[in-house]
Amino acid sequence: MHQILVVEDQPDLRAVLRTTLVAAGYRVVEAGTAARALVEARSHKPDLLLVDLGLPDGDGIDLIRAIRGWSVAPILVLSARTRETEKVLALDAGADDYVTKPFGTDELLARVRAALRRAPSDGHHRSRLVFGATVVDLERRQATGPAGEPVHLTPQEYRVLDVLARRPGLIVAQRQLLREAWGPDRVDDARGLRVFVKSLRDKLEPAPAIPRFILTEIGVGYRLASDVVEGTTDTTDS
Ligand code: CA
Repeated sequence: MHQILVVEDQPDLRAVLRTTLVAAGYRVVEAGTAARALVEARSHKPDLLLVDLGLPDGDGIDLIRAIRGWSVAPILVLSARTRETEKVLALDAGADDYVTKPFGTDELLARVRAALRRAPSDGHHRSRLVFGATVVDLERRQATGPAGEPVHLTPQEYRVLDVLARRPGLIVAQRQLLREAWGPDRVDDARGLRVFVKSLRDKLEPAPAIPRFILTEIGVGYRLASDVVEGTTDTTDS
């Protein structure tokens, strides 16, 4: 049974989170302040942390940085803030993904499952990606289209797919994808990345104009739908 540390200062929201997570089969530890969260994180070693960005005794981003100093457990940010820059800051500080308040139960639980799947204890090998009728074998560096025809992907495209596939269902920040695709010199080329992703969608998505598998999180990054990765179909979603 996975244990989740919920860091949220609003008691009513904390209670809702607890009820939701316990009903889904998780054990829950709670903290209402950043200081308390550090104590609980050290003593309980939770499998995942849900962290509110606005805490009474400090910024959630500083808390994430502090926890990342010694823990690799997945961190999901809870944020009422819609500004992309704050989401990017949280991801840079070491968060794995975010859920924007107000959020639905299904969305929250889907993100929690995706984040727990990427945990280092999960040794699942993700080498086959299924985009409808187009299949990519990351290990062999081969792709085939709906009629079995070869689909040509560039080494950069394979590298980007590698990065996305390591975190199915979770956001990957633009800068990380840019670093993987082109190296550290072009990490700010968001426009270049958009063109790159469009070309990748043209090759892989059944309907590239309405992406179903390679999803955009505007101003923040991209997310590979979790059912692209074979063996990680999210059967508990309904
Ligand atoms: Ca708050």
